[in-house]
Amino acid sequence: MEKASRLHKLSSAIFNEMDELKEQVEQRGVSVINLGLGSPDQPPAPHIIEAMHRALDKPDNYVYPLTGKIELRQALARWYQRRFGVELDPVTEVLVLMGTQDGLAHIAMAFVNPGDIVLVPDPGYPIYYASILLAEGEIYPMPLLAKNEFLPDLQAIPEDIARQAKLMWINYPNNPVAAVASADFFARVVEFAKAFNILVCHDVAYCELAFDGYKPVSFLETPGARDVGIEFYSLSKTYNMAGCRLGFAVGNPMVLSALNQVKSNIDYGVFNVIQEAGIAALEGPQECVRQNADTYRRRRDVLVHGLAKLGWPVPSPGASMFLWAPLPPGYQKSAREFALGLLNRSGVLVIPGTAFGEQGEGYVRIALVRDEDILKEAVERIGELIGAG
Ligand SMILES: *Cc1c(COP(=O)(O)O)cnc(C)c1O
Repeated sequence: MEKASRLHKLSSAIFNEMDELKEQVEQRGVSVINLGLGSPDQPPAPHIIEAMHRALDKPDNYVYPLTGKIELRQALARWYQRRFGVELDPVTEVLVLMGTQDGLAHIAMAFVNPGDIVLVPDPGYPIYYASILLAEGEIYPMPLLAKNEFLPDLQAIPEDIARQAKLMWINYPNNPVAAVASADFFARVVEFAKAFNILVCHDVAYCELAFDGYKPVSFLETPGARDVGIEFYSLSKTYNMAGCRLGFAVGNPMVLSALNQVKSNIDYGVFNVIQEAGIAALEGPQECVRQNADTYRRRRDVLVHGLAKLGWPVPSPGASMFLWAPLPPGYQKSAREFALGLLNRSGVLVIPGTAFGEQGEGYVRIALVRDEDILKEAVERIGELIGAG
């Protein structure tokens, strides 16, 4: 039996290589400090888990959930109002997803025909690429470069490409580059999208993991944004609910209805028990969100200061759960070689930037997903490697 050719395009050689080496290193008895996958390591707040317990006892919660409880969509609309000052109609402008990944993966099927051009940040979160490949669209990478503060240079996109482009992905606070965007940048995106009739999909997974008083904005705060696009909002990072698989798409009603049309052929909605936990998260006390951000800030500081002492200067991000680290001075090798060497010799797993696109060369992504003590140990281990040359 032969697998479909689209599967070949999906496999990521670098992620596979890191996984295999991790197993080999563990078999040698080394305990690997895994700063690879951006999966939150903390549990949700107790009131969220309690709501889930209560929901388990309601017999009504075991039917096919379909489009999502109206109470949950209202809760999200209220949250957007409180947090961003953005009004959403809970019926037409809020779609419940099985984690935002669900929507990120399926939106291209609703809008991209084979051969259509899609503008994708490079480096970028892997599902943006995968969704286009599954829909048989064409990828046009928008480089995210340090000299442009890791924002795509819209002026640099050739006009014929812009005219043919169907969809554009953006994501701030960004994974993997840990950069943030201003309202001003979003205004330029809206203008560009209107000029060239492009659907904008903004992924806002990290809007609550921001530090030092900084408050990320929603794309939908931008005048005109709702005419051109939608935003994906996830509970995974904000409330440590990654395993619950609950997220939302919000914004343009026509776009959401097309996405829902694809989804209604594929799934029957999110388990009602999880939806009730989502209501508790969005409507309950928000102290846990502040604490969560504070945890990541402290971890960021431990790593940034620790690495700086080793002579490895890494920019301190204003938001997200990652460091986007240029390779240490003296390491002119590829990001892949550096990351493989670090894992092999120190047992510290970070992801080479090239796993996220060509422009990731020269960087590694370090996820802040372990306690401060473990991060200190990671710094020590890295010190032995860098010190040894
Ligand atoms: C973690 C993450 C998500 C969240 O995905 P869910 O499916 O909602 O868990 C979305 N986008 C980016 C860029 C992420 O890093």
